[in-house]
Amino acid sequence: MFLTHAAQLFCDALLTLVYPQVCAICGGSVERRRFGVVCEACWRTTSIFTGRETVCWKCGVPAPAEVVPELREEVRCGRCDSQWFTAARAVGPYEGALRDTVLQLKRKPYFAEYLETVLIAAAKREPLDVSTRIVPVPLHAERLRARGFNQASIIAHALSKSLRLPLDEVSLVRVSGSEKYRAGLDAKGRQETVAEAFAVPHPKLVLKESILLVDDVFTTGATVSACAEALIKAGARKVLVLTLCRGGTLWPPVVRSGKP
Ligand SMILES: [Zn+2]
Ligand SMILES: [Zn+2]
Repeated sequence: MFLTHAAQLFCDALLTLVYPQVCAICGGSVERRRFGVVCEACWRTTSIFTGRETVCWKCGVPAPAEVVPELREEVRCGRCDSQWFTAARAVGPYEGALRDTVLQLKRKPYFAEYLETVLIAAAKREPLDVSTRIVPVPLHAERLRARGFNQASIIAHALSKSLRLPLDEVSLVRVSGSEKYRAGLDAKGRQETVAEAFAVPHPKLVLKESILLVDDVFTTGATVSACAEALIKAGARKVLVLTLCRGGTLWPPVVRSGKP
C-alpha cells in the first residue's frame, strides 16, 4: 500500500517535470495528476455539496434556511413544480475548481480522479441512489461533430464504471432540425422548442427504469426537464438528474416550502 502510494507520488512528480500543468485558477503548479487542471489548494477552497445541506428536495437549489432532518424531504422551492425530472442534484456550485474543470471538459475528454471521487459520492446519496440505468444528455449532432465527443458521455462513462450500472447512449436522442426555429422566439417559445428536441427511439429499454440523467451543468433545468419528459412519457419510472455543477438559479424570493 505504502509502496503503491509512494510510486504514485513519484510518478506524479515525474509527470510534473515532463509536462508541467499550470493551475487554471491561481497559475501555480498542479502537483498531482489526480486533481486535473486545478491545484490541490484551489480544490480545497472550492465548495462541494456534502448532501447534508437543506435544499429543494426536487431540484436541489440550496435553501436559505436549515430544517430539521425529518422535514428535509418536504422542502420545495415552488419554482420547479412543473419540471419533469424526479429530483436533481449537483456535485457543487458553478464556481472555483468545479467551474474550471467543466470548462476544460468541453475541450478535452479527460476526467480527473478527484472529480470522479466527488461525483460518485453524489450519485450514491439520496435521492439518486436508486438509479438503475445511466443516460447522458445528448449533444447536438453538429456540435458533436465539431467537438468530437460529448462531455456528458464522459461523465456518464466515469459513473457507469464505478457504480456498475449500464450506460445507455442510445435511448435518448436529439431531434435535429428544431434549432433553426429558435432565433427570435420568446422564452416560452424557446422552452417549447427544447421540449420538442428529444426523443426516445427504443422505449422498451427505459420501461420502468430509474434513469440517472447526466450532464455537466444545471442552469434553469429546462434541458434536463425536456429530456425527462421524453423518458417519462416513454415509460421510465423515475428520472434522477446528476450534474457536475449547479449554476444560475437561486432560491426564489417568495419561499413556499413543505405542505401548507
Ligand atoms: Zn491553484
Ligand atoms: Zn425546486
